[in-house]
Amino acid sequence: MQIVQTIAQLRAELKTMRAGGKTVGFVPTMGYLHDGHLSLVQKARQENDIVVVSVFVNPTQFGPNEDLDAYPRDAERDLSLLRAGGTDIAFFPAVDELYPPGFTTYITVEGPMTQTLCGRSRPTHFRGVATVVSKLFNMVGPDRAYFGQKDAQQVAVIEQMVRDLNFDIEIVACPTVREPDGLAMSSRNTYLSQTHRAQAPLISQALFGARDLVEKGERHSAVVVDYLKTNIQRIDGAEIDYVSIADSRSLSDLDILKGDVLIAVAVKLGRTRLIDNIRIKV
Ligand code: AMP
Repeated sequence: MQIVQTIAQLRAELKTMRAGGKTVGFVPTMGYLHDGHLSLVQKARQENDIVVVSVFVNPTQFGPNEDLDAYPRDAERDLSLLRAGGTDIAFFPAVDELYPPGFTTYITVEGPMTQTLCGRSRPTHFRGVATVVSKLFNMVGPDRAYFGQKDAQQVAVIEQMVRDLNFDIEIVACPTVREPDGLAMSSRNTYLSQTHRAQAPLISQALFGARDLVEKGERHSAVVVDYLKTNIQRIDGAEIDYVSIADSRSLSDLDILKGDVLIAVAVKLGRTRLIDNIRIKV
């Protein structure tokens, strides 16, 4: 595995490695890797000749009062997991490498897609995501890029950006990897106190209960939202940011469940904000 820190090194390595028309799979991450990230690496490994993984805690996707400084980091551990996962190039750029002094260009996916759900409480988040992902796409030039369905809104935003800006990249959305008790894996789970960690699986249980309701025939969003709110409010100390039922691709609200439906929640447990979702074809 090559470990590279500069864009020039990354381009030089890739130029040599991809000679003869080899395909490149790319997995962008913020590090502190877990099995969710590694499932993307594994899928990229299966589908491409070369696997590139970036580890970069992207400052532009954090709001002013968010957890940029506290975000967990462990480069040594990440490197050994990436090596074991069959990564060819691990890209660990410094902040100045991606955002040198004088940087002023941002990518904004406009409209409700970035203003609803997480966009409501994190108004500049998706601008930061779209900007860093398009920069990384330009550096790596992958054939395929792998994203987790755990961040369903991110997948929708990146797919929109790829369509709108004509990136010649296939976006592959991979299923959410969960802890044995159902909690969606996340680097932020390390923030949870023992008490909150014990209660956190109730969020995914509420989502699974909502899925059962829909599978039994419920089609009114209001009923499903009510079910979710009632169950999540039972969790001691939980504060609901949103409960949403929307079309998976456009993220527009649905009153009646129909088509490819995203049921998504964001919940604060103490100071930790957790997101989770399920997708159902109705
Ligand atoms: P992050 O490091 O949190 O920015 O995540 C990097 C990538 O891993 C994103 O595409 C995430 O959606 C994905 N990811 C994070 N957690 C999970 C999970 N539990 N299951 C599947 N993918 C995940």
